[in-house]
Amino acid sequence: MQTTYERELSQSKEFLTQNDHFLIVSHVQPDGDAVSSTLAVGWLLSCLGKKFVMVNEGPIPKRMRYLWHAEEILDLSVTPLDRQFDHVICVDCADFKRVGTTHERFAEGARLLNIDHHPTNDHYGTVNLVVPHAAATAEILFDLINHMGLELDESVATALYTGLLTDTGGFRYSNTSPKVMAAASKLLEYGVDGPGLSELLLEQMTLPQLRLLTRALNGLELTEDGKIGWVSVTDEDLKATGAVHEDMEGIVNYPRNIQGVEVGLLFKVINEQAVKVSMRSAGKVDVARVAQSFGGGGHVRAAGARIEGTLNSIIPRVLEQVRQQL
Ligand code: 5GP
Ligand code: MN
Repeated sequence: MQTTYERELSQSKEFLTQNDHFLIVSHVQPDGDAVSSTLAVGWLLSCLGKKFVMVNEGPIPKRMRYLWHAEEILDLSVTPLDRQFDHVICVDCADFKRVGTTHERFAEGARLLNIDHHPTNDHYGTVNLVVPHAAATAEILFDLINHMGLELDESVATALYTGLLTDTGGFRYSNTSPKVMAAASKLLEYGVDGPGLSELLLEQMTLPQLRLLTRALNGLELTEDGKIGWVSVTDEDLKATGAVHEDMEGIVNYPRNIQGVEVGLLFKVINEQAVKVSMRSAGKVDVARVAQSFGGGGHVRAAGARIEGTLNSIIPRVLEQVRQQL
């Protein structure tokens, strides 16, 4: 008997082989898995001789430009795209909102293939390939490429490895399953430079990034019981340090890493009316639930939400929700 996963893989294969002229999108402020998954789908469609356009609402992180055809992912905030697509592939997006403004390029009644690994995914696709126990969307694409009988090469292996590496925090988080290690092992056989990618993506920092981290940590706060720790970053902090948006990635781990802290939070001020909050849990608290109560989502130990309001009004609201879960 076919498992649900096998059935979803077959339906996804059919979606890709039976159609053409695809739009590939990932979530706003894309991370390593989002960028890698976009490119892996592009690579897969190239193998099938299909036409496609890869887009994101904004720029992809500079650090990821080494990836195969990364420069071809259109940044819709600077490069307008004047056509719409009947077939769309969304990768690493837990819900429709996550695609940001790219939805303006979806034709009315467009058919959507939703490939994702978030437990909070609401199955918004026409076809859904949603695997909550997968460590990364890249892990699902590794399976899909194999399911379709395509032979990997070094470029797509590097993309897939990048997704696994970044979403498992360097093969350290609890999502680092035997399956992840087996896939990573296979990918290394295609010539992926594992240590080089770890150095580039997990170790290296730019000077502005380090300055931003220092500045943010200066404002570190803890609840009285020491169970919740948080920092915030404003536009002023970015300006003062010369850092860019992507430099905020990873800061949230610092409050979470303090002994005794159950939940670490990072509040990023987007503008006067909105704050993006990143949440990390040591394991006891399901931060995906907390994020969902604010319209966001994610995983048990890593989640986020965009919340309307000022920083000062949002911090106590989020702390209260976390406290209730403790
Ligand atoms: P980060 O804090 O690194 O931005 O995101 C942590 C996790 O939560 C990621 O898996 C990410 O996809 C998810 N996430 C972050 N922000 C949102 C959001 O606004 N909505 C949803 N559904 N998921 C989010
Ligand atoms: Mn992911």
